[in-house]
Order: sequence, then C-alpha cells, then structure tokens
Amino acid sequence: MGETHKYHLVGWDKVCSPIQFGGLGVRYLIPFNHALLGKWLWGFGLEELSLWRQVFVAKYRVERGCWTTNKPRGSHGLLFWHDNWCSNRSLKETFPILFGCSLNQNDSIASVLVSQSPGHLGEVVDKLHWRLNQNGTFDSRSYYHALHAPEVVHFPWKSIWGVKSPRRVAFFMWTVTWGRILTCDNLKKRGLVLAGWCCMCKADDESVNHLFIHCWAAEKLWSLVFRSVGIDWVLPLQVSDLLFG
Ligand SMILES: [Zn+2]
Repeated sequence: MGETHKYHLVGWDKVCSPIQFGGLGVRYLIPFNHALLGKWLWGFGLEELSLWRQVFVAKYRVERGCWTTNKPRGSHGLLFWHDNWCSNRSLKETFPILFGCSLNQNDSIASVLVSQSPGHLGEVVDKLHWRLNQNGTFDSRSYYHALHAPEVVHFPWKSIWGVKSPRRVAFFMWTVTWGRILTCDNLKKRGLVLAGWCCMCKADDESVNHLFIHCWAAEKLWSLVFRSVGIDWVLPLQVSDLLFG
C-alpha cells in the first residue's frame, strides 16, 4: 500500500486480449515464449545440415521431428498411421479397419513411401507444412494464437483507438467502456466504506453510466453538444452503446 498505491483497474486477461476484442494487445509471456521457441522446432525440421541441429542430433538423436533420447527414424520421423501428415486426422483414425489389418502399424512415412511404385506416393517430397499459415511456413504469431486463443468480445475499439485523440484520453475511454474507473460503486466493491451518491446531483448512486450519461450535469453537457451540431439524439443506457452508436 502506501502513498504510491494505485488500483489495478482492468484485469490482466483483458489487457492481454487483442485490441479488436477489447484488450491492449499485450501478449502473455509464457505462451509467447513458447511461440518464439517454436521457431527452433521448425528450424530443426528444415535445417538438416546446420551445425546447431547436428549437435542436438548427436546428443539427443531424432524421433518424430524432434530431438529425443530414443532410436532415430528416417526422414522427419513422422509415423504413417499415427501422425496427422495428410489431413487433420491420422490415418489410424480415418481408416481404423485398415489400421487393424496392418502388419506394420509403427512404420514411418519414409519407409512406406520407399516401397511404393514410381509415379505414386513415392515421388512426393516429404516436407514440413505449417497448417496455421496459408503459405505453409511457420510464424510465431499464428503459433501464439493457437496456444492462446483470445475470447471473442464485441467491443467498440474503433471508436476508442481509431479517432484522433490524445493517447491518455483513448486509454481513459477504454477504461470507462469496461466500467472500471474509480467511481463510488467500484470503490465500494473494493472494500471502501463511503457514501455512494453522485457528488454533482446527489440524487443517485455514482456509477460509470450515471456519471457519463444519466447525471443531470452530463445530460446538460450532451444536450449542449447536440445543439451545437444541430441533431437530436436519445442517449443509450450504457457508455459502450454510446460508442457503438
Ligand atoms: Zn449525478
């Protein structure tokens, strides 16, 4: 606490959401770190001649596209029946009866393709393909969103961040839209004991929507603005609806 204590107005989960979903676009450090480390996994599958990969292979060996202490397999190590290499499902799930009949259920793709006749699957180059990106190459952004899918929230972000206003004003409106400024009702939720009425009209409890829309002082200000531009407008119940308007 102390004199420098400041309230945490908006939760970290909202702060870490994308801007279009009501957040500030800050990334969660742990999944973002994993997404960045994914570049090494991707490079491990592609850079077969690089020195750093050879060091890992010598120390840990390779299986299923990654380093391991188990016996290595050919190609990228993908298993013909168990891995998702030609669709979103494994062949074991797509063709369970065939899988039950197979005598080589743990064969790698490389070993199966070598046995095919020329002109068929044997001519297809086995390569890594990143399904989260249209061009098939890895990028940490798509990996991060796969690791941490944001909650979809309908939020008037364009009315806040897309207008020409000072950044601190936009940030204040972002906090207001979430209803998290330190009005009396929010202070009471945080355990403070105080009179909760609006200090301007003393006729109602002070909440975000009252302070910015329904208080007589706010209504006078809004009507002054509307008269100056020559329009009649019925104010909505909530600030967020005002920004969507
Ligand atoms: Zn009031």
